[in-house]
Amino acid sequence: MNAEIIAVGTELLLGQILNTNAKFLSQKLAAIGVDVYYQTVVGDNAGRLREAIEIARKRADILIFTGGLGPTKDDLTKETIALSIGSELVYDEAALHSIAEYYKRTGRTFTENNKKQALVLEGAAVFPNDHGMAPGMGLHKEGNVYILLPGPPKEMNPMYVSYVESFLMKLASEEKLHSRVLRFFGIGESQLEDTIQDLIDAQTNPTIAPLASEGEVTLRLTAKHASEEQASSLLDETEQNILQRVGEFFYGYNNDSLHTKAIAALRKKGYTLSCAESLTGGLFGEKVTEIAGVSSLFKGGVICYSNEVKQNVLQVPPQVLASEGAVSEACAIHLAENVCTLMKTDVGISFTGVAGPDLQEGKQPGTVFIGISVAGTAFAVELKLGGSRLLVRERAVKYGFYHLYKKLEEL
Ligand code: ATP
Ligand code: MG
Repeated sequence: MNAEIIAVGTELLLGQILNTNAKFLSQKLAAIGVDVYYQTVVGDNAGRLREAIEIARKRADILIFTGGLGPTKDDLTKETIALSIGSELVYDEAALHSIAEYYKRTGRTFTENNKKQALVLEGAAVFPNDHGMAPGMGLHKEGNVYILLPGPPKEMNPMYVSYVESFLMKLASEEKLHSRVLRFFGIGESQLEDTIQDLIDAQTNPTIAPLASEGEVTLRLTAKHASEEQASSLLDETEQNILQRVGEFFYGYNNDSLHTKAIAALRKKGYTLSCAESLTGGLFGEKVTEIAGVSSLFKGGVICYSNEVKQNVLQVPPQVLASEGAVSEACAIHLAENVCTLMKTDVGISFTGVAGPDLQEGKQPGTVFIGISVAGTAFAVELKLGGSRLLVRERAVKYGFYHLYKKLEEL
């Protein structure tokens, strides 16, 4: 966590007094591990104070104000903060009581404007003033913490020691962990790591942890911050830096999966889907039908394992099968286009390839063509997959969903 100290008082700017509050607070904060990146001094002027607040809010987690909590007209710290952050000022009963006591004890008369010192920001923790009247306060608001302390060092120093330090320590221990998982496909773990190694090394908050499983790579970003909103903006920034480099392989977050993303993309476009599966033998359709409610867009599929079915049911021209073979770009495209026609869908996808372990048509196991036809235009992707027969088939299905998703996102 980091802090900005904002000393309020025109006398500081005129050189009449030295800003010893900043020195005191900076030393104390350093001792508990809170970094102070800025010290600001601003006069007793509402407009300029407000500007200082708005600047500090963007660059510091904790804003610590000293001065301007007194009863006079030029004391406007809490009023200005209240306006700036949209909070109400309310009377604090304990503070009212102790101010009245203070007047009684010192034999002075209690005037109406003295009551003003018992006004605190609604919802704030109130720090009693054991050596004066104006209480201090600490308030969380939209990702920042505002701490208001009186100006006189003889009041501010003991208040910090007795109440504020423990308040800040508690905040630090309340810093929570917020995680976000980025999911990638079509890039190996080592290639992904190499590409962003410097980011991984430089990053402390959030941290970046890669993890590979079943042909996918994920990066878990973990940010530590008391405020969820602040944590999420830290995560956003790191995510952007990562995606600038490997965005083409990114497909989703957290529990997203390739098949749910692809189906969601179809749904968004209002497209219907059918499939023609040779080497995957129905695995693609099986995965699609895992999703509840998919019947509104998934019409069906053909398991076109034999060349007869490819030719007779899906109208792949015999000369394509004879010259280029069933495991070919041309065959994949014909299958995707023709299954669309057969099933009257907007989108068709096809899988043809060699699952192994033996060569087929002289082609290596793991050679796969995926054909995709979307609203009248078709293309095919060639893959060289490794692994067992089962893995080749499962990976082919994942690539199918991945390319389908990426294509739909492009449109
Ligand atoms: P009061 O109730 O006494 O008016 P306040 O919280 O309104 O307290 P200010 O009016 O801003 O505080 O300052 C009161 C006095 O505290 C100043 O005249 C000065 O002596 C001292 N003081 C204020 N700010 C600082 C500072 N940053 N460093 C050292 N002393 C300060
Ligand atoms: Mg004052």
